[in-house]
Amino acid sequence: MKSSDRFSRMEEKGFDLSQAVAEAGRCLLCHEPPCSKGCPAGTDPGAFIRKLRFRNITGAIRTVKKNNILGGACGVLCPTARLCEKECCATGIDRPIRIGKLQRFLIEHSWKIGFKPFDADASERPPRRKEKVAVVGAGPAGLSCAAELAANGFQVTVFEARPEPGGVLRYGVPGFRFQTEFLKKEIDDLLSLGVELKCSTPMTGDGAAEKLLQQGYRAVFLATGLWKPVRLKKDQRDLKGLFTSMEFLSALREGKAGELSKSIKGKVCAVIGGGSVAMDCARSAVRLGAADVYLLYRRSLAQMPAEEDERTETMNEGVHFLTLNQPLGFLADSKGKLKGVKLIRTTLGARDSSGRRKPVEVKGTGWSLPPVPSARSAYPSLKLERGGLIRAGEKDCRTSLRGGFAGGDIVRGPDLVVRAVRDGKTAARSIMSMLDQKAGA
Ligand SMILES: Cc1cc2nc3c(=O)[nH]c(=O)nc-3n(C[C@H](O)[C@H](O)[C@H](O)COP(=O)(O)OP(=O)(O)OC[C@H]3O[C@@H](n4cnc5c(N)ncnc54)[C@H](O)[C@@H]3O)c2cc1C
Ligand code: SF4
Ligand code: SF4
Repeated sequence: MKSSDRFSRMEEKGFDLSQAVAEAGRCLLCHEPPCSKGCPAGTDPGAFIRKLRFRNITGAIRTVKKNNILGGACGVLCPTARLCEKECCATGIDRPIRIGKLQRFLIEHSWKIGFKPFDADASERPPRRKEKVAVVGAGPAGLSCAAELAANGFQVTVFEARPEPGGVLRYGVPGFRFQTEFLKKEIDDLLSLGVELKCSTPMTGDGAAEKLLQQGYRAVFLATGLWKPVRLKKDQRDLKGLFTSMEFLSALREGKAGELSKSIKGKVCAVIGGGSVAMDCARSAVRLGAADVYLLYRRSLAQMPAEEDERTETMNEGVHFLTLNQPLGFLADSKGKLKGVKLIRTTLGARDSSGRRKPVEVKGTGWSLPPVPSARSAYPSLKLERGGLIRAGEKDCRTSLRGGFAGGDIVRGPDLVVRAVRDGKTAARSIMSMLDQKAGA
């Protein structure tokens, strides 16, 4: 049984109304729906699919949006085959319900018919609270926390370093997988809740985030993501033609495709790594007109962290997979222009702590062809994990700083949109319970 693929959904056409209702009609209407248990963000597919099946379309839209402010984005980007749809498979159904695709349909349909899920709710909204909460970072975690707080009457300001909100959804995931226009519409839904968004406002400098608490914000949620996960070594920084994945992908999303294309078009490109981000880079390089794109990975194909369907899509687009090869360094000409990659072949040895067989370099086979948070100084008194991630409780997102909460990639390391959304909701509930206790004291 194969579940829906994650990789090319934005390019794939979404459902229309009759297709969506027909798909929902296949649902077994399970008691205590397993699919809902399989959703990290609590989007509750069991409930919205039931409503859709009985043609309560606006009710279904409201369920998605109330539970997951980025329900559309998750519908497009979630690796559903290992989350909700995996649980649906386990019911014994002949083919799992296309949950992600239905979710995307509902959000796109709400825009098409002009249905505003939160307007319908305005009369039921809780009274406005006087407490102000600051959120640092407008990625999925920050936006989800802000939405939950605003829906509960709190005054929320989101401070974002970049000119536009969305985090990796805006500046990382390539446009062929997730379109800016789609994200803009989801963010408009969020703004309709009354969230204040301050873009181009980085919280950097000594204690900047902690100062927010002194300025009258009763809590701060830190959701700054991982923007400098890989640093090039000193001698590599000036090499022309060498990019980190985030430099490359965010330049593309900032409209610099023309510039990048100049250094890539007609050339042989190498992408190092075997995860989803490496696949995005390789596919983007193909689109920029590279003559050949090689994916260099030190382990085997079966050990690649990218999903099987991502790998297949990438191969189908003509990327060559060079597995069991460890990059050792780079070759450059006298002007500092990248000319090649030094490699050594590897073989698989004993299992390491991750349970995977470790790549071991094979002597004499050389040939040619750690996370750092961006805003560390902004929160100097927080306890960090090794590697620079912020230490925060799994169940309450609390940090070592009173009034300080954190979630998303800055706590988990590179992860998923849906889990960043969950952290945002968890933090919001934890902040509300803290403020309720204080108000009652
Ligand atoms: C290329 C790529 C492809 C991916 N594809 C998928 C996918 O298909 N499916 C999936 O589920 N997940 C995917 N992910 C992972 C997913 O995007 C992340 O897990 C998710 O975005 C994390 O959300 P976040 O809010 O924690 O951080 P981010 O999305 O990184 O957002 C953090 C925000 O904080 C801002 N910020 C940073 N420092 C400051 C500061 N000092 N002051 C103010 N603002 C600041 C940043 O500008 C950014 O907007 C992908 C990741 C990458 C890199
Ligand atoms: S948010 Fe993602 S994991 Fe949750 S139900 Fe929707 S598609 Fe599935
Ligand atoms: S697990 Fe599948 S069949 Fe059961 S309620 Fe969820 S979507 Fe329907």
